[in-house]
Amino acid sequence: MKVVIIGGVAGGMSAATRLRRLEERAEITVYEMSEHVSYANCGLPYFISDVISERQSLLLQTPESLWARFRIAVKVQSMVTSINREAKTVTVKNLATGETYDDPYDKLVISTGAKPRQLTIPGIERAMWLRNVTDADTVKAALENVAPDKDGQKSVAILGAGFIGIELAENIRHLGHKVTIVQRSNSILGQFDPEMIQPLHDQLTKHGVEIVLSAEAAEITKTGVILTNGSRIDAGLVFTAAGVVPDNSLAREAGLKIGATGGLWVDDQQRTSDPDIFAAGDAVEKNGELTGDQTLIPLANLANRHGRLVADVIAGRAVKARPSLGTVIIGAFGFATGITGLSERAAIKGGIKHAIIHVHPNNHAGYYPGAKRVSMKVLFDPETGKLLGAQAHGEDGADKRIDVIATAIAGGLTIDDLMDLELAYAPQFGSAKDAINIAGYVGNNVFNGTTPTVQWHQLEAARAAGAQVIDVRSPHEHGAGRIPGTINIPVDELRDRLSEVQLEDVVVYCAVGQRGHIATQILKANGAKVRNLDGGYSTWSVAEKAMQRKP
Ligand code: FAD
Repeated sequence: MKVVIIGGVAGGMSAATRLRRLEERAEITVYEMSEHVSYANCGLPYFISDVISERQSLLLQTPESLWARFRIAVKVQSMVTSINREAKTVTVKNLATGETYDDPYDKLVISTGAKPRQLTIPGIERAMWLRNVTDADTVKAALENVAPDKDGQKSVAILGAGFIGIELAENIRHLGHKVTIVQRSNSILGQFDPEMIQPLHDQLTKHGVEIVLSAEAAEITKTGVILTNGSRIDAGLVFTAAGVVPDNSLAREAGLKIGATGGLWVDDQQRTSDPDIFAAGDAVEKNGELTGDQTLIPLANLANRHGRLVADVIAGRAVKARPSLGTVIIGAFGFATGITGLSERAAIKGGIKHAIIHVHPNNHAGYYPGAKRVSMKVLFDPETGKLLGAQAHGEDGADKRIDVIATAIAGGLTIDDLMDLELAYAPQFGSAKDAINIAGYVGNNVFNGTTPTVQWHQLEAARAAGAQVIDVRSPHEHGAGRIPGTINIPVDELRDRLSEVQLEDVVVYCAVGQRGHIATQILKANGAKVRNLDGGYSTWSVAEKAMQRKP
């Protein structure tokens, strides 16, 4: 059996090496048009700033090492220019010599990845981007030679505030350059809900990254970017980081089915509309686990996992791809923000019923030095309790909580199950009641109706409908910052000051929701119709800030 693979990185090389482990006698050839194979594209932003100082560490394998261990023939600088499905051949152009030839296949694997979305604005040819090691070399050299702007500063503009744009921004700041991000929408990283992404936004601006929201580049000039509103941003270097699109022109020209997302269509065994052609990675659309919709999720885990699965299928194993959750995390200046499954925005868009909780526990026991807050938002089905998604952020421990919830969703667990998860605990690592357990307790109270809640974005409507809003924190906390127009009755005084409470409709809040929960129970026992502000003042205040962003 001769297997030809187009694209020698995550999806392609996972397919190639797994296939060799399963089929010692298969002939395997990988065509890769760049100069390198199996390179770590996720590490490229950190290489340009020398956070990763060894270029060699990005190159995980070479054609020689892959031949030595796996007898896989890897041809770099070799671009497949067409697929002839009838003849079952690919046409290859050697980019070093210009030579062109045909190569036959029994099975073909396409893992051509995604390419940067190209903006169609004048001067776009001046922009740089980051996709492979050669790009990183070019970018690194260019960053060393940025011409100073009129203020004598080395300025860089980045068009797009997605994952790559933000990673570029952080790393270019490490070099000491001035960085401005221009983002078309009114939020960075649109996958996240506004109150969950605002802290990362603040972290970026705190470290000197200027973020211009609701702005669009009209032209890239020699000295910077002109926006559609006429304003100018000085920049000796401009990057496009406006997302990626599936690189599937080969598949399209070969007449393979392309999905409505623009990604290559595959069945649940990664088989394209041609039974002898498989595909994996960023070029391919994925099946969303929670919506059932086809979607684009250009992430390394899925490229590796589906590449491996392709090899299993070619080797005759009866395996199926499980749908994708879209679990992702980003860090900048020591602050991480992650998401798995559905955001509130995605749930609303998909018409999926959901209940929400926000919690703000510590990453480990508060009495052990260095405890940091991990803020989490968890979505679950209000009828079954099944977990639907989570977002988390903080200086430490957000990654662990996102991974636990991703695993819980994959296992079909409910919000109540989070209460019972036995997670590793010693004071330096976690808490006897881990942040995940706390999410379970809070969610359980909402799920079974013990604590009716109101979300930050429902508070105004509740007030307009006549609800009284009471801050149950201490006078000191109330003085330091409060929701405008709210009265202060500390939770410990509540039983003695019931006459001040409008029992027929009242909303209580504290810092994070815990004292609000106690106040809710006291007032309920006294006949009140009461709701607790979910996530307390912590969630409300950050959401309020997010809402002040230019629409
Ligand atoms: P790719 O890794 O893009 O590989 C496709 C290869 O195919 C390319 O090398 C290309 O040269 C080659 N190719 C294309 N067309 C042809 C042709 N006609 N002939 C021959 N060769 C061809 N994901 C995460 O999950 N976490 C991260 O932190 C993260 N960070 C990233 C940072 C950067 C800067 C980039 C660029 C990506 C990042 N990603 C991250 C995304 C991740 O790298 C991709 O999801 C993953 O590499 C996709 O694998 P793939 O095999 O589909 O495509």
